[in-house]
Amino acid sequence: MNAKNVLEDLKRRFPNEPEYHQAVEEVLSTIEEEYNKHPEFDKAGLIERLCIPDRIYTFRVTWMDDNGNYQTNTGYRVQHNNAIGPYKGGIRFHSSVNLGILKFLAFEQTFKNSLTTLPMGGAKGGSDFSPRGKSNAEVMRFCQAFMLELHRNIGADCDVPAGDIGVGGREVGYLFGAYKKYTREFSGVLTGKGREFGGSLIRPEATGYGTVYFLRAMLATKGDTIEGKTVLISGAGNVAQYAAEKVLQLGGKVLTMSDSDGYIYDPDGIDREKLDYIMELKNLYRGRIREYAEEYPTAKYVAGQKPWFEKADIALPCATQNELNEEAAKALVANGCIAVCEGANMPTTPEAIRVFQEAKLLYSPGKASNAGGVSVSGLEMSQNSERLSWTAEEVDAKLLWIMENIHENCVKYGTEPDGYVNYVKGANVAGFMKVAKAMMAQGVF
Ligand code: NDP
Repeated sequence: MNAKNVLEDLKRRFPNEPEYHQAVEEVLSTIEEEYNKHPEFDKAGLIERLCIPDRIYTFRVTWMDDNGNYQTNTGYRVQHNNAIGPYKGGIRFHSSVNLGILKFLAFEQTFKNSLTTLPMGGAKGGSDFSPRGKSNAEVMRFCQAFMLELHRNIGADCDVPAGDIGVGGREVGYLFGAYKKYTREFSGVLTGKGREFGGSLIRPEATGYGTVYFLRAMLATKGDTIEGKTVLISGAGNVAQYAAEKVLQLGGKVLTMSDSDGYIYDPDGIDREKLDYIMELKNLYRGRIREYAEEYPTAKYVAGQKPWFEKADIALPCATQNELNEEAAKALVANGCIAVCEGANMPTTPEAIRVFQEAKLLYSPGKASNAGGVSVSGLEMSQNSERLSWTAEEVDAKLLWIMENIHENCVKYGTEPDGYVNYVKGANVAGFMKVAKAMMAQGVF
C-alpha cells in the first residue's frame, strides 16, 4: 500500500469531504509501515475495503414546527464496518452535519471501537437539524420523523446508535420511544437510554470520565498527576461537563469552558458549585455559557474566541472537530502546557498535532482518549442482553480498566526509539490490526 496514492484516489472519487480525507490521511500515514509487513492484506484489497463505508443511508426527514409549518431536513446513517461486531456509533444533530463529517466520524469510530476490546463495529449518523432554539415538542416530532426512516436499518444485533453533539438523554428517549412504536419491539437498539428503560449507570459520565482516566495514565508515564494542575476545557456539553467533574475529583483546577459563541475564564477555578450551575444552565435551561460570567462576576466572558490562548498545564478539547489549530497549539506550548487529551473527535488540526509532537508533549487523539463513552455503551448492550443492570461501581471499574488497557496498547504500538509515545500511531496500529485480522478471516465482500 502506498498511503499517498490511496488517499489521492479517495479524494478523486469522493471530493468535497475534507474531514473524511483528513481522518483517512491520519490513519493511513501511521499504519502504512505495519500494513506493508503483511502482503496478504494488499492482495485482499484490504485498505480500500476498510476506508470506504459498507453502506450509507440518506433520507428526507419532514416534520411540523410549532407554528404549523412543515420543515425538511436530511438524515444519514453511515454503516462503516462490522467485522468485529454490530455497527455502533452516535447520532449527531447539528446544522453543520453533512456526509463528509459523518464519514470521518464513522471511520474513526471503527478504530476506536476496536481499541475498546468490546465486540463493536463502526458507524455514525445524524442530521442537519439543530435542536438549539427548538421546543421539546419540536425535538420530539423531529426524532419521530427521523426514526420513521431509520428504524428499518438498525437493530440490537445489527446497528446500535447512541448520542453525540445535539443528541443527549432527551433525544435518545424520543428516538427509542419511536423505534419501539414502529417495530413493536423493546430491545437494546440504542444506548445512552434513561436508567428507567435499560440505560446504564455511568453512561452520561463515561466519555468525560474516560478522557480524564486516560489523561491520568499519560501523566503517570512521567511520574506526574492531575493534582494541582490548571486545565482548559472547551465545550460545555456532555463530554466537557463530566471531564470537568473528574478533574475536580482528582484535585485539578478547571479554568475555562465554552460553547460555540465563546468561552468563560474563571481565575478562581470552576468548583463543584459552579459546575452544578453550568450543568443546570446547559441541561435544564439550555442556556448560553456567557451567562456564567453574569452569575460569577470574577470570571470573564470572551465572545467568538477559543480558550487555548489562556495559560494552563493541560488542555482538554471537548467540543468539536478542528477547534484547535496550529496557532493555538503554538500558544499552548509557549505557555508551558504539558498535556493535551482529546475528549472530542478530531478537535486538533493536523498542523497542530505536528506542533505537539515536535514539542514532545503528551498528546492523545480522541479515538483513544474519548473511547470511554462507546465502551460504556458496549457495557449497556451487555446489560440489555442479560436483562440485568450493574452498579455504578461495577461499570466505573470496567471503564477504568478499559481506558488503562487502551493506554497500554498505545504505549505498546506507539513508543518511538527515543522513548516518546506517539499516541496517534499507537491507537491507529492497535485499532487497525484487530479489524484487519477479522476481515481477512471472513472472506472478501
Ligand atoms: P454536546 O452537544 O453535549 O456538547 C457539544 C459542546 O460543544 C457544546 O458546548 C457546543 O456548543 C460545543 N460546540 C458544538 N459545535 C461547536 C462548534 N462548531 N464550535 C464550538 N463549539 C461547538 O456534545 P458532546 O459533549 O456529546 O460531544 C462533544 C464532542 O465529543 C464531539 O466531538 C463528539 O463527537 C465527541 N464525543 C462524544 C461522545 C459522547 O458520549 N457524547 C463520545 C465520544 C466523543 P453549543 O451549545 O453552542 O452548540
